[in-house]
Amino acid sequence: MPSIEERFWRLVQICVHGPQCQDCHWPWLGQVTHGGHGIFYWYYDHTKKTNINIGAHVFMWSLIRGTMPQWPLLIRHTDDMPSCIQPYHLAIGTSQDNSDDMVTRGRSSCRVGMLNTRAKITEDDVRYILQLHGQGFSAREIGNIINISRQQVTNITHKRSWTHITL
Ligand SMILES: [Zn+2]
Ligand SMILES: [Zn+2]
Repeated sequence: MPSIEERFWRLVQICVHGPQCQDCHWPWLGQVTHGGHGIFYWYYDHTKKTNINIGAHVFMWSLIRGTMPQWPLLIRHTDDMPSCIQPYHLAIGTSQDNSDDMVTRGRSSCRVGMLNTRAKITEDDVRYILQLHGQGFSAREIGNIINISRQQVTNITHKRSWTHITL
């Protein structure tokens, strides 16, 4: 049985320059969402009787940095390439940083959700959640990937919040 880390590294396409390279994109070769984010099957939770999946970029961060970011901190892609998990193309930040980036790059045209002061996640997060939901991920799995509560996930997938966001 390969270890979790061995399984993980087999799914990372490291560039020809090797692990020291800080420049090239390292695409995730495993499962990806519609939005292109890599999903890594982490472990089977015998108590909850469910597979625990995690964002491949989040797992990469935890391997390299030794800590798992907890909400409201997120691992962000700094290269506009969701499938890339090159450690030097990842940065830690809040979901607000993420949305600031999006606005700076002109990718966000709708700010309705941001005006809600109770909003803790971004519209980008919401689309990602809806994508994962559409792929059959459970609320628990999605919460695990995004680092938010299962309740927050179901509020979104059941259209109790963020109702203006569609895929
Ligand atoms: Zn390289
Ligand atoms: Zn990259």
